[in-house]
Parts: sequence; C-alpha cells; structure tokens
Amino acid sequence: MSAEESSKEERSGVRFDLEKETELRFEVESGEQVQLELLSGLAEVFGSELNRSKRYTFDSGCKIAVFTWQGCAVQLSGKTEVAYVSRDTPMLLYLNTHAALEQMRQQADREGERGPRVMVVGPTDVGKSTLCRILLNYAVRVGRRPTLVELDVGQGSISLPGTVGALCIERPADVEEGYSVQAPLVYHFGSTSPGTNIKLYNKITSRLAAVFNQRCEVNRRACSSGCVINPCGWVKGSGYQALVHAASAFEVDVVIVLDQERLYNELHRDLPYFVKTVTRPRRGGVVERSKDYRRESRDDKVRDYFYGFRGGLYPHAFDVRFSDVRIYKIGAPTIPDSCLPLGMSQEDNQLKLVPVTPGRDLVHHLLSVSTAEGGAGDSVIESSVAGFIVVTAVDPERQVLTVLSPAPRPLPKNILLIMDVGRVYL
Ligand code: ATP
Ligand code: MN
Repeated sequence: MSAEESSKEERSGVRFDLEKETELRFEVESGEQVQLELLSGLAEVFGSELNRSKRYTFDSGCKIAVFTWQGCAVQLSGKTEVAYVSRDTPMLLYLNTHAALEQMRQQADREGERGPRVMVVGPTDVGKSTLCRILLNYAVRVGRRPTLVELDVGQGSISLPGTVGALCIERPADVEEGYSVQAPLVYHFGSTSPGTNIKLYNKITSRLAAVFNQRCEVNRRACSSGCVINPCGWVKGSGYQALVHAASAFEVDVVIVLDQERLYNELHRDLPYFVKTVTRPRRGGVVERSKDYRRESRDDKVRDYFYGFRGGLYPHAFDVRFSDVRIYKIGAPTIPDSCLPLGMSQEDNQLKLVPVTPGRDLVHHLLSVSTAEGGAGDSVIESSVAGFIVVTAVDPERQVLTVLSPAPRPLPKNILLIMDVGRVYL
C-alpha cells in the first residue's frame, strides 16, 4: 500500500495526483471544514461523480474517499485529520457486484419480473452504508430507479434517527449532502437501537416491505430496478433474527455479507436456498466511529431537519393545545408475566399505544407526527410519519405545548408519537 500519510498539520491547497484505481482518503478535523477540487481527470465520491468546475466543502468529522477509475488530480485545502492515497480498495469487486445486479435487472425487464432485492449486512463500521450508496449510485447512473430501504434506526440516511424508511433514488447522491430527500416513506420506531422493541422493529420492517411491493405492482421501473436494504450493524441474537426477518419480508434475492465469515455461514444456513449469499471484504479505509461521534452526527441530523443543510431553513414556533393532540409512546414497559392482564402477552405489550399526558418532562423531546387519522381499525403503528416537531416548552396551567415545526401551524394531523433519541436542543 502506498500510503502518504499526513498527521494533524494544516494543509492548504495540497495537490494529489492519483493513479488509476486508487483513492484519496481523508477525514476533516473536528470543528474544521475541508475543500476539495477536481483539477483534471475523472473521480467519484462513493459512486457520485465529481464535477470539474466545483469546489466541494466537507464539514467537521466527514470521512471521505475520492476514487478514480482512470486517474486524476485533486486539490485539498483546509485541516484534515489524515489524508493519504491508497491502492487497496475493493471498488473493482463492488463494480462487478453492480454489473451482476444490472444483469439481473435486464433479465427482469425481459421477463416482466422483479429486479434484484439486495441486502448488505455486517457488523458495525465495515462500510455497509457506503456500499449501499455506491450500488444505488451506479444503478441510477445507468438509468435505473432503485429504492433505498433504510432499516438502520441509529444512523439512517433518509430521515431522523429512530425511524426506518424507503426512498426511490432518482439521481446520484449529492457529494456533500447525500440523497435529496423529498418524499421519503418513513415509519416511527422511537429509539436508536432495534433491541429496545424488536417486535415493533420487525412489524414496521414488514410494513415497509408491503408498501414497497405495492409500489412495484404499479411502477414497472421501480419493480425491475429492485432495492438495496441497509440494516443496522447489530448481527447477534435478536439483531440476527431481525436480519433474517427483513430478508424474508423483502424476499431478498441477494445478501452481501461484509467481513464476517460467521454471519455468512449463519445466513447461508438460515435463508432459503435460492437466496444468493456472497461475501465481500470490509472496505479498506472505513473509519470506526465512537459513541460520541455517533451521537453528534445524530444531533446534526436533527438540526439539519429543522434548520436545513448548513442553515438554509427556519422552523416555525407555535403553541399547541393539549386538547388538540393525542400523544403516545409505543410499547408499555415490560412487567412480570404474572402481572399482565389475562389473555395478554408480553408481545402485545410491545406494540401497545400508551397515552401520555404532557408534562414538563416532554420538553426537548422529538415527536413524530403520524399520518394516522386515529379512527377505529386505523393502525397508528403501521401508519407512516408526516414529519417531526420538537417540544420547546410545556405549560400545564394553560394546557399548551410550544413546539418547533418545519411547517407553519396547524399540525397536519393530531396523533404524536414520542421519540426517545436523546434530548434535542435547537
Ligand atoms: P454502521 O455500522 O455505523 O452502519 P457502516 O458499516 O455502514 O457503519 P459506513 O457508514 O459505510 O459503515 O462507513 C463508516 C465511515 O467510513 C463513514 O463515515 C464513511 O464515510 C467512511 N468511509 C467509508 N469508506 C471509506 C474510505 N474508503 N475511505 C475513507 N472513509 C471511508
Ligand atoms: Mn451504516
């Protein structure tokens, strides 16, 4: 590996000449920004092509790889934590994977069948989300409209932490901002770890799969383009069961296991024989992220939701009367079996809507605004989310909440679900 490493020194306008099939990896120093410019040749960032006439800015903590198939020259300015060139990249393997999926899509077109449904699995920090992004970008670049299914409730790329969702990809991810998210389909989970309510997690996974299937029935292009599923990196115990559940709910055709022999063997054993299970090496250069880093990036996500990427938006503040909304938490706390009402199981408990009376402890909480009407037979759990608000004050005397919302008043619907993803200070 030819690695030209630089430590924490200031880098102002350093030029890198990259040979073909190599990549420049860098990390933006905390609290800093780094600018990237393509001087000559062709290059891409996680499958999105760089534009010659543009200066790209990356924010604090970003971890980026600029890869080139043909060779290129780029310039970096600003403070990087590390910046080095590596030839040790699995991009060729990833391109082959894309080519195999593309063949499946062509076959689906010819035969009027479904395109490949792919799930990328592996432990944390092996490059799962990055591989999903590359596969989606390559697919959309050859004219497909694949669907990203985001099952990572910790760090999803299409909505806030504590949710799962699906997004039809119509253009490659923006190099700086990621996918442009206009109308994602989002479901409330409520926390950042599937283990807090595995029953609910599996339920909304199934729901997402059902809605995707409906879309495939009416949209030929979405159907033959298939989907790429990004689950979380929890691969043991119930986490493993959740993977198997997702694979069967989406009827996946291909599972790509990153960097784990054991997981590969288990899935190979437990999934139906027609599911193609392949392993791919962990992505070199993938950077481990600490708990703090993860929390910070979750906070950034929430801030971006209300204030826009780099502060392009303003949220609206207004009062909501207690009597105009119904607030719920999903899942009652587990109580000993002997205390459960007759005929009720622990599992029912996990899917129960527990009404919450607003109190001051609701301040700084994020709430999902459900699209459910709340009528009888209307499943709140299986209804998508219209958007999110954050509670900034509660006045029990006047019986009002003050909220920040991306849209002006009134709230579109009146069922609100409590998110337990950490306090939000905006
Ligand atoms: P998680 O378990 O949190 O879901 P993951 O397996 O999805 O992690 P990624 O999010 O794909 O891992 O990658 C982790 C980090 O490494 C990301 O910030 C990504 O931008 C960065 N990264 C991925 N590949 C490279 C690379 N080749 N060079 C530099 N950074 C990279
Ligand atoms: Mn990920």
